[in-house]
Amino acid sequence: MKKRLFLLLTTLLGGKHAPGRSVQCLFLIIFILMPMAVSAQSEPPGDIMSRPTFGVHKVLFIRVIYPDDNRVVLSGQRAPIHANNLNDIFKANSYEKLALDIDVTPVLMMPQPTSFYQLENRLSFVRLRADAIKIAEDAGFLESDYDREIIFTVKIWPQPFTGIGGVNLRTSFMTRDNPTLSAHEVGHTFDFNHANFWRVTSANPIDTVGTLIEYGDKFDVMGDVHHFHHYNPRNKFRLGWIPPESILTVSESGTYTIRAVEKPPLAGVTVNEYTALRIRRTPISDYWVFYRSQEDSANTGAMITRIESRNSSSSILLDMAPGSLPEKRDYQDAALVPGKTVRDQEAGIEIEVLERHSDSLIVRVVVPQAGLDTLPVIDIVSPAFGKTIKGGVDYEATAFDPDVGQVNGAGIDTVKFILGYPEGDDPYGEGLSFVILAVKDFSAPPYIFHVETASFPDESYRLIVGALSQNGGINRAIINHLIDNTGPSAETAVAAKPVELVNTLQLQQNYPNPFNPSTTINYSVARAGKVELTIYDLLGKKVRTLVAANNSAGEYAVLWDGRNDADRRVGSGSYYYKLRVGEHTSTKRMLLLK
Ligand SMILES: [Zn+2]
Repeated sequence: MKKRLFLLLTTLLGGKHAPGRSVQCLFLIIFILMPMAVSAQSEPPGDIMSRPTFGVHKVLFIRVIYPDDNRVVLSGQRAPIHANNLNDIFKANSYEKLALDIDVTPVLMMPQPTSFYQLENRLSFVRLRADAIKIAEDAGFLESDYDREIIFTVKIWPQPFTGIGGVNLRTSFMTRDNPTLSAHEVGHTFDFNHANFWRVTSANPIDTVGTLIEYGDKFDVMGDVHHFHHYNPRNKFRLGWIPPESILTVSESGTYTIRAVEKPPLAGVTVNEYTALRIRRTPISDYWVFYRSQEDSANTGAMITRIESRNSSSSILLDMAPGSLPEKRDYQDAALVPGKTVRDQEAGIEIEVLERHSDSLIVRVVVPQAGLDTLPVIDIVSPAFGKTIKGGVDYEATAFDPDVGQVNGAGIDTVKFILGYPEGDDPYGEGLSFVILAVKDFSAPPYIFHVETASFPDESYRLIVGALSQNGGINRAIINHLIDNTGPSAETAVAAKPVELVNTLQLQQNYPNPFNPSTTINYSVARAGKVELTIYDLLGKKVRTLVAANNSAGEYAVLWDGRNDADRRVGSGSYYYKLRVGEHTSTKRMLLLK
């Protein structure tokens, strides 16, 4: 069992970039599950993210220079164009469900020279981010008013990455004025992982034996960002941009129609026309079949992506015309064309394109009859997203095997916590070492791992939680987060400002917005305590008390039906909703349109 969990760790850390390939980006986020207040019960565990991904997300572009380097990466003239392009990419990919409302700071002087933000030949995300946030706040842009930020800086780290995304699921660092690359990095903050490319080796029928090209799916903005602006449908589904009813999990062999992915998904599929087919391959791995009809010469057939872990957002596009074109142009023949069959003999799966139309494909699928085991489901309950940790921390996770039950610990043999960070020039390349700072096994819940971090270097850390079920299935979840011990010592910090207040609350933009007649407000609290969620009109008059209760730590979703405390419908217009936990508050605005 120990050996298996060790393998789990080495498997996790085994990803690497192809030698000689220039690296665009350091990605720091892998996969995460959180407690879900709203979910589709029938979906296989791990497929849907619980993070709100609809409505308007507030993004801040922080433009920084240094006392020893005053080069400006994003000019004032280019900033609004960059912002518009980035917003357009997200609007198109989300079928207008998500928009980015972007503010741009003036060019701001960092308080320290570039060398201050380098630690032992690495970038200190903690220092760079903390100072950028501080100078932005001094200029009137409050961190709490935004969901995400991109820090535009000259490249002050030694590694070849031109951008860094997803350090704490909200912050990206960009060294270029390139909106598509920004979309890639911001994609990481939505927990999107890199898109890879798989060159198959045999002709027809095509089997899946071949070569993996890391980070090279030219159909996906998480792959080669210079060609295409799309995210793959599986990731869009994870974020809710494609609704569950538009995805078919194929449980019977048969013929199915796929709708072109550029067309908005059908709200409720009453005809046999899906945005993507999901074909379960192993307990953790799926094929996703979709049709991209409008981009370049990719309109020849079915796009087949393989997902290697159900808790992961990594994807691998299968190239279905093996070896016919040089690598640079692989994207032009990646689709499975009519008359061709892909065969995964090991899994007993066949996929064949029967007919291609301008906006739909007809596909024949053969799947095996036997059902598949379900792996343990893991939620990392704490720490909260997007927050920096100071001093001690309680890492908390829940785990259960859905084949046994949904109660914490059901069917679980061992839960293992591993805290550390990757070391080396390329944390995902050859010679990787993972520095483990703390590790602990639990044989029963509660799975709470207390770590004193005061002596740790300021760093972006990775927590890996692995769960081994009693029937031998292994799954894992990962969260990356910042631990910041700069400034006052942990003891002083506790005395001056209780640590638990640092991470107290997070209030998300309501969805939908604008709305009629009802909308959902998501929030999370990091500690148990009294919580108030109140709606006010523009004049500050209280309209409705939605929540006044003691909440335990976790994520919550509350529906507002557009009625006031007297149970009358309120009129069109803007309203504020305010979350209060102790002395901490957060306020956002929403629009009721009738
Ligand atoms: Zn990346």
